[in-house]
Formats: sequence, C-alpha cells, structure tokens
Amino acid sequence: MPRFVVLQHDWPQLHWDLMLENGASLRTWRLAEVPCSGHPIALVRLPPHRSIYLDYEGTVSGNRGTVKRVLGGTYQPVPAPPGDAWFEFDLGGERWLGQITGPAADQEEGLVPEPPGHLVWRRAAGPSDCSPSNAEINTVPSGPDAESPQTSASPSIHPPGHHSMLPALPADRRSLPGTRIEIVRDGIPRGRVRVAVFDFDGTLSLIREGWPELMIPLMVEHLARAPRAEPRDQLGQRVEEFVMRLNGKPTIHQMIQLAEEIRARGGEPLAPMAYKQEFQERLLQRVHSRTRGLREGTVEAESLTVPGSLELLRALAGQGLELSLASGTDLVYVKQELEALGLQEFFGDRVYGAIDDDQSYSKQMIIDRLVAERQLGPGELLGFGDGFVEIQEVSRVGGIAVGVASDETHRVGVNDWKRNRLIEAGAELIVPDYRDLSPLLGHLALGGAVIS
Ligand SMILES: [Mg+2]
Repeated sequence: MPRFVVLQHDWPQLHWDLMLENGASLRTWRLAEVPCSGHPIALVRLPPHRSIYLDYEGTVSGNRGTVKRVLGGTYQPVPAPPGDAWFEFDLGGERWLGQITGPAADQEEGLVPEPPGHLVWRRAAGPSDCSPSNAEINTVPSGPDAESPQTSASPSIHPPGHHSMLPALPADRRSLPGTRIEIVRDGIPRGRVRVAVFDFDGTLSLIREGWPELMIPLMVEHLARAPRAEPRDQLGQRVEEFVMRLNGKPTIHQMIQLAEEIRARGGEPLAPMAYKQEFQERLLQRVHSRTRGLREGTVEAESLTVPGSLELLRALAGQGLELSLASGTDLVYVKQELEALGLQEFFGDRVYGAIDDDQSYSKQMIIDRLVAERQLGPGELLGFGDGFVEIQEVSRVGGIAVGVASDETHRVGVNDWKRNRLIEAGAELIVPDYRDLSPLLGHLALGGAVIS
C-alpha cells in the first residue's frame, strides 16, 4: 500500500503539508491546519515533492525552516464524486477518511489551484473528534512557554493557547465533579435567569475559525511598510496583542488600531474601513467554502459549531428563556451564518451585529438595552461568550457570565489563553464547550426549581 505523511512545516509560516506517495514522487497539498476535526480545512495544491519526505524530519535546504512528521501511515484512494479526491488513511490501525474538494483536486499533475480547495478529515467510523491516541498531533509546545503565549516568537498562527487534548482539567482548577466545567467563583445567584445573551463566533459558530491567522499577517504586511517599522517578528507580537485584546468588538475597532499603529511609525494609513474590506475579502473566501459545504450537505452543521450548541439552545429555550445574539461581526453575515447552521429559530429578531463602519454599535449597548427593557436584576441575565468584551459587560450588569474557552481548531479541550482572559474579564464559570450540558444547567439551577 502506498504511504503518506503529514509534515508540520514552520516556514514561511506555520502550515502542514499532506504528501501522498505516487510512484516516485509525492502528491502534495499545503494545509492551513493540522488535520484533526470534521470541518473543512483550507488547502492549496503544490507541485509534486521528492519521496525523501516520507521519512525525513529536520531542516529544509535553502533556509526554509524545518519539517516534523505529525501523522503517517498508508492510504488508498476511495471512490469520489467527479472533481473530488477521497482517500482512506490507515494510521496504524485507526482509519480516517480525507476528502479533498476544489479545483484540480483529482488531477495527477498541476500547480496551485485558484481558488483554494478544502480537506475534510474525519474518522472512517465513530466520532470525528481528535482522540487522545492522536495526541502527538498537538502542535503547541508544552512547558513554560505554553502558559505565556504573549511572549511567543511565532505570531501568525492560531489564536494563542494550549490546545489540550485531554478531557480532564488540571488539578489546580476547581471543577464541577466529573465535568470539564471550571468554577471560578462561588455564590452566583441561582435559579433566577430569564434572559440569555450569546456571542456568535467562537461561542456557537466555528465558521470563522482561523480568522486571526488571516488578520494578523495582513496587519503585519501593512505595518512593515511604515518608515519606522520594527522587524516583522516584533510587529507580529504587537499586532497579536491588540487584535486579541479587541476581540469581541466590531472588526472596525481592530482596523482603527491598525491605522493608529501605522501612523505612530511614520506611515500614512488608509481609512480603517479599507483595511476591514481587505480582511473581509480574504476571510470570506474561507467562510464561503464552509457555508457552501453546509448548504450542499457535504459538511455537517455540528462540525462547524462549538460542540453541544444546539442542545444548549434547545434546553434554554425549553426553559422559557428569551435568547438574544450579539456579535462583533457584521450583521448581514451573522444572519447568513446563523441560518447556514440552522440556529436562527432560537433567536427570532433578537440578532445583533455590526453595521459597516458604524462605531456606535457595541455589545455594551445591546446588553444595557436588554437590562433596561426587560428590567433585569442580579442573576437574571445569563451570558455566553469567548471574548473579553461580552464577559466583561455581562458581569458589569450583574449577570452570570459563562466564559467559553473553546478550542476552535480541534473542537475539544480548553484554550488556556482564552480561559485566562475570560477569568480576568469576570467569568463565573469556564467551559470548553457544552458537552457537559446537564451539570451546567443543574449548576445554574435551570433544570429544576431550585431558588437560592
Ligand atoms: Mg467570539
């Protein structure tokens, strides 16, 4: 049987190369993510590579970084619709299916296709999540650096964080017994919740997963052209810091900051809206391939949501709670993507998002309005979010803030970088996702009639 490898390659940016033995050479695709979960991963076709890479790890000639094998085994092609290429991969007994779709996917030769295609990687049988037996594909180094990613030297990859594959929480964290729900503070008001407010991206939807790896390099590109720009790695750290700090606010705020940073380095910035449009164009390519997959039924909505989202929304709506959604993404896209995921029915007309470059929209405004209109007292508002802003606002008005430290790439485990920020912002609880639904509802006294 022919062999295959997935190599992690750190040059010019961190990416992964999927290589399939094909006679004397290797059919090769560059992946934006490590193959791990059931959602589409952006890929581009590369020219054939030498078969030496089946067994090689180490530096690449011409100062082109280093490669490290993260997956390997044998594969065989399986029947696929015209234009696609499907393979079954055998990782030492575990069987996975990789579906490559997009231009030139099925051609034996050919250069980089435009636009890029995508790979869906899932178990041939059983759940599609990465399993602990694949823990070696965890690509974030453990050790002291993993806990302080703001000092990390690699600025332009995934949102910083430790992508833990392990279901259990570290021993120093207090959790609800038998769950991965971390209790940050005791004594929250229980059984009073009437209204729940949700963030969208990273909290329910994973359609925009990977946006920082598009936004950060784009900003570094622009900043590097300013007369007094620092070296790129320093710019990368600076950009990552403000991009993630402003996460949760409408995108225009990140672009306003970019313009200020350019000016501070002696450059002449464009209007922030121009940067936002450039970013949107890049991101929408990825978003479109995902929403198209959802519409055409080749991608399951479940694989593009934080696990347990649908069940959580159903349960809360079933308890008679009024659900609202407030996103920093443009409203027009929030509505489209909410619908693509089939979650719109829970929110009715209570869906809020940014509008172009309007700076007056904010989650604070939406939450203040909810509190005023519904006359919400302490413990009557329940908020879910993976961003600093929404957690801070829910906490400010006396609501119960549930921080969602979702690992958007792997869909399993806690993203520690998010977790630490969410606790700083005032989260009462931290959850990685909504898999532990009953204990969560029980803790909030939403499943029964417990009134404190
Ligand atoms: Mg979010």
